[in-house]
Amino acid sequence: MKNKLDLELVSLTKRYGQTLAVDEISYHFGVGTYACLLGPSGCGKSSTLRMIAGHESVSSGAVTLGGRDISNLPPAKRGTAMMFQNYALFPHLTVIDNVAFSLKMRGVAAEERRKRAMSMLDLVDMAALSDRLPAQLSGGQQQRAALARALITEPDVLLLDEPLSALDPFLRIRMRAELKKLQRELGITFIHVTHGQEEALALADEIVVMNNAIIEQAGRTRDVFEAPKTAFVALFLGSHNVVSMPEGKVAIRTDAIRLTKPEAAKLPGTITNIEYQGTHVALTAAIPGNQDVTALLPDKDFFGNPKDVGEAIGLDWKAEAAHALAS
Ligand code: ADP
Repeated sequence: MKNKLDLELVSLTKRYGQTLAVDEISYHFGVGTYACLLGPSGCGKSSTLRMIAGHESVSSGAVTLGGRDISNLPPAKRGTAMMFQNYALFPHLTVIDNVAFSLKMRGVAAEERRKRAMSMLDLVDMAALSDRLPAQLSGGQQQRAALARALITEPDVLLLDEPLSALDPFLRIRMRAELKKLQRELGITFIHVTHGQEEALALADEIVVMNNAIIEQAGRTRDVFEAPKTAFVALFLGSHNVVSMPEGKVAIRTDAIRLTKPEAAKLPGTITNIEYQGTHVALTAAIPGNQDVTALLPDKDFFGNPKDVGEAIGLDWKAEAAHALAS
């Protein structure tokens, strides 16, 4: 097995005319990591991914792989491969010919192409459907074919642009597990663009949260979730409250909030909404200063001492559960 290479973005910048889409971002992806680029629409995720892939020119800065500047190489010479959102399979080619296509471009002989394409199709559990056309496949099967096609060049880094968005919710969760399994088996770096925080948390070893063309916060997924540095990151990842306290703005996880009597609490509140979520109950209260706080309570705790909308309550948390935020 060849040595795996690490990918680094160095002050990477993308301008489209007057639009600054990516603003001097720098990040080092660990070798063999599953990384998610996460952020709202328009924050620069796809531009970043396309610059890594070589499908978009770099305005300034660099992309390096194993220390080598690949910024100006054509896509096929970089050691990266891309799987597109709509899979971009050739409709007139069978699955196996789709998968073998890039080998054909590289002048690999027909028999060798077929052998390598079949082994890739085996990897994604699609060998039995190798002679079908893309239109004869389900969404999940098309995705597997697209994965096999991207992986056949044995890239060091696989780039995935919103790979699950075309699938229905049930299939999305199944394919999510398959992507993770495949990444573990191959041991290569996957960089996956998504605007879904749940998807990113479920998949990523490392998470890069982008906003307005910059990286707001990045690092190991759990480190970012446990200690968001800005209100944007706390709110975008979800499951956090952002509250202005006399000592400054803080983030507090919804599951760290407990109910007490109003006079004993850090904050008094009035219940505005109660949402049953099966294992938990999400209770939202209005607090002074026109703010909302949500407490995620285990269902047994809530139903052991049920509350109603309009009731006055106290909201409490352990001091260490509150993380100071940069404004
Ligand atoms: P995301 O993937 O996070 O939705 P994009 O990277 O697609 O964000 O876009 C970032 C910004 O760059 C947006 O303001 C978008 O309108 C702009 N943009 C993206 N592609 C182009 C393009 N080809 N020409 C001009 N502007 C673009």
